[in-house]
Amino acid sequence: MFEPANFATENDNPREACGVLGISAPGEDVARMAFFGLFALQHRGQEAAGIAVSDGHTVRMHKETGLVSMVFTPESLAPLKGKFAIGHTRYSTTGSSSLRNAQPFLIETLLGPLAAAHNGNLVNIAELRQELLQRGTGLSSSTDSEVITMMLAGAVGATWPERIQNVMPRWQGAYSLVLLTRDGVYAVRDPWGFRPLSVGRLPAGGYVAASEWGALHTLGCVDIHEVEPGEIIAVGEKGLESIQGMAPAPKLALCTFEHIYFSRPDNVWDGQNIHLVRQRLGEELARESKVEADVVIPMPDSSIPAAIGYARVSGIPYNDGFIKNRYIGRTFIQPTDSLRKQGVALKFNVLPENVRDKRVVVIDDSIVRGNTSGPLVRMLKEAGAKEIHLCITCPPIRHACYMGVDMGLEADLIANRLGVEEMAARFGCDSLSFLSLEGMMKAIGRKSGYCNACFTGAYPFPVDLEHTKTGFEKAIS
Ligand code: SF4
Repeated sequence: MFEPANFATENDNPREACGVLGISAPGEDVARMAFFGLFALQHRGQEAAGIAVSDGHTVRMHKETGLVSMVFTPESLAPLKGKFAIGHTRYSTTGSSSLRNAQPFLIETLLGPLAAAHNGNLVNIAELRQELLQRGTGLSSSTDSEVITMMLAGAVGATWPERIQNVMPRWQGAYSLVLLTRDGVYAVRDPWGFRPLSVGRLPAGGYVAASEWGALHTLGCVDIHEVEPGEIIAVGEKGLESIQGMAPAPKLALCTFEHIYFSRPDNVWDGQNIHLVRQRLGEELARESKVEADVVIPMPDSSIPAAIGYARVSGIPYNDGFIKNRYIGRTFIQPTDSLRKQGVALKFNVLPENVRDKRVVVIDDSIVRGNTSGPLVRMLKEAGAKEIHLCITCPPIRHACYMGVDMGLEADLIANRLGVEEMAARFGCDSLSFLSLEGMMKAIGRKSGYCNACFTGAYPFPVDLEHTKTGFEKAIS
């Protein structure tokens, strides 16, 4: 089995849980549609991909580790004939990246086959897992997604909506789910609304649910709207039905990082276009940081809109300073030791002509472990930059995420160990500024309704600070 090349040391971004997709389109080649939908969600998970299809009688599935384009071929898609499909692109936040943890999970139940794909992380997974094991339910993976599937299989209820409603109160944490049954697809969003999930209509008939609008637009959807926190959307031959799974939580906890980094700029999150929010993050940062400089450059790609916003408000000209190799994380060939030592240079090259003899503002979306900022500053200095002012479009990340974003443990986070001045000295930059929490929320245009626990440590519910994503591996490795 292939394992993707480990470029962790060259990448300081938080990592997303997954992308999910569900399709109800009788008469269409739903497997091929799912393939192209997943392709548009590839940025949300690059470790494994899978598609399950129902023809109204039987559910068939193909999943494998690797990128969507590697997992699926015309031959592997050909047997997946049917009317309804779900798909998944995986980055692991609970469980390792092995095939055993790839999704969807497919099981047989008294109500017929059930396949499930999940984006998010349950924080009470240890307790739920133990309950299943004590009841005699065997588990073959180390993921919370399998626990969700098995709980649905054993839930009380004569119909799938009843079963979903009955188990939702037991799930504490983040879940945007797509479920495939013999007769259709269910899209389910947790009552806190942590992770995105939207639904659109196909002009020729049918519906698609997906983590992001980019996938829905790729498939030609119209009338797109976000699934509400706590809502279950059922799509099948009878059309679309909205069911209340649970009342929305009194305090919603949407993930701020969808705005800052995860979502593609064409996504809509909490009713807002991501690209425009990122521009406003850059504008607020310019108002707060007040750096004197000659050029503003983004860390490509997610910081480009913020750098545009920063340049607009500061009056400092925008230009490109780094060229990113967009395919470097997508190779399964391990670099040689000497190439690995080049670190970030494998992923980024500097445009010396744009930074030489200049005071440079570098806009970046976030600092997590702090392992790339120093090398990037060094590259700019070697290219002749006179001053480097690093400006970050969110506050310092001092706390780990337990709701589906892999940032490591608190001890891994550089802002948990060092103050801003110490970090600047460590990176070798002339100044380091973070956007304030107030400035970030002003740019987002909301006063509340967001999680922000990675900045504040105020989690929406108690979390197990010892939990690691491979915590359940040891028992079944
Ligand atoms: S802790 Fe941070 S990354 Fe995790 S859900 Fe909350 S806002 Fe998102």
